[in-house]
Amino acid sequence: MTGFPAKIGSRAVLERRNLQKLFDVLSTQGYRIIGPTVRDGVIAYGELSSVDDLPAGWTDEQEGAFYRLKKGEGNALFHYGTGPDSLKRFLYPPLVRLWKARREDSGFRIVEENDEPPKYAFIGVHPCDLHAVAIQDKVLMTGEYADPFYALRRRKVFVVAVNCVKAGGTCFCVSMKTGPKATAGFDLALTEILEEERHYLVAEIGSEAGASVLREIPHKEASASEQAAAEEAVAEAARRMGRVLDITGIRDLLYENLEHPFWDEAAHRCLTCGNCTMVCPTCFCTTVEDVTDLSGEVAARLRRWDSCFTGEFTYIHGGSVRASARSRYRQWLVHKLAAWLDQFGTLGCVGCGRCITWCPVGIDITAVARALREKKAAGLPAPAGTPEKQGDRHEHACR
Ligand code: SF4
Ligand code: SF4
Repeated sequence: MTGFPAKIGSRAVLERRNLQKLFDVLSTQGYRIIGPTVRDGVIAYGELSSVDDLPAGWTDEQEGAFYRLKKGEGNALFHYGTGPDSLKRFLYPPLVRLWKARREDSGFRIVEENDEPPKYAFIGVHPCDLHAVAIQDKVLMTGEYADPFYALRRRKVFVVAVNCVKAGGTCFCVSMKTGPKATAGFDLALTEILEEERHYLVAEIGSEAGASVLREIPHKEASASEQAAAEEAVAEAARRMGRVLDITGIRDLLYENLEHPFWDEAAHRCLTCGNCTMVCPTCFCTTVEDVTDLSGEVAARLRRWDSCFTGEFTYIHGGSVRASARSRYRQWLVHKLAAWLDQFGTLGCVGCGRCITWCPVGIDITAVARALREKKAAGLPAPAGTPEKQGDRHEHACR
């Protein structure tokens, strides 16, 4: 469009007034556009029909058990932290029908269903959420338990990431090496710059598909000063990040302290509500249930998100394997920060901070991990063979 060779790794500048063209191009290519929008008092992912649906001028304030939407700087489009949902809701929906069957004279027949999932273009994806998708790819697209429903949605996705220029109140991506700058997993990655008289986006090209879309939008090559402004904005977000999770030796720290009395202290506030697992972009546990319609002619098997915090999740032979909040909280944390490494070669946490914001009592994964490390360092006594209640000792890794 300007003689600038749009290719992977190069950076262009889009003026804010031309951003609608990105929506137009993606719509023309048949994408359903999903991005941040103000809904129910939060900035959450939703279907967008134009650039006007973005949360212009809005930002958020987040802390443990606290979220507030508020007016932000100028008309910034992407100056906010992660919202309560993530790409998980679209790629791995909360409810999926696995199959449907119809009664026949001599039994039943499985009804063929060829519903094609939509082709999604995600706009405004935070770098931590790109890492969460990469983790879900490992869990859900490889190995013995690969999920065809996920793969069908995932393969068609176009991703416009947004580098974070505002540190969220509860996130800690710097510790997890998942942000605030996107390094992979995007087609285009934008950094939004607001100057006194100018509003523009520096766009890094991450794929051939991204280059091809960019060629359809008015743009020019990013100058050295525009690139420097983008780098500095992201670096400032990194400097302002309020939380840290020290992951040095975290796997062994957790495995060596499974019976530490600390877990009682950590879990005594936990309501076992499961909010942390619902908002977490990497948690993937589900349950299945069979239903019939009122006539009894049609039956279906549904898959729903589930949570390791519920009693039913480990209900076997008349009881729950994890009867206490202590055992459920420990299971969740040990799975995220230790067992996940053994199973999938990656931690199960990307530092998005959602589980801190949306925990109704503000339990903070970074504070819990730090407290365990400090108690261990202080040499507080390990439990001298204190047997747990029967039914609380079994740790099983999900999947
Ligand atoms: S455990 Fe918490 S901070 Fe980590 S990815 Fe899940 S919701 Fe985000
Ligand atoms: S840690 Fe918080 S969000 Fe998670 S189950 Fe316990 S009370 Fe609910």
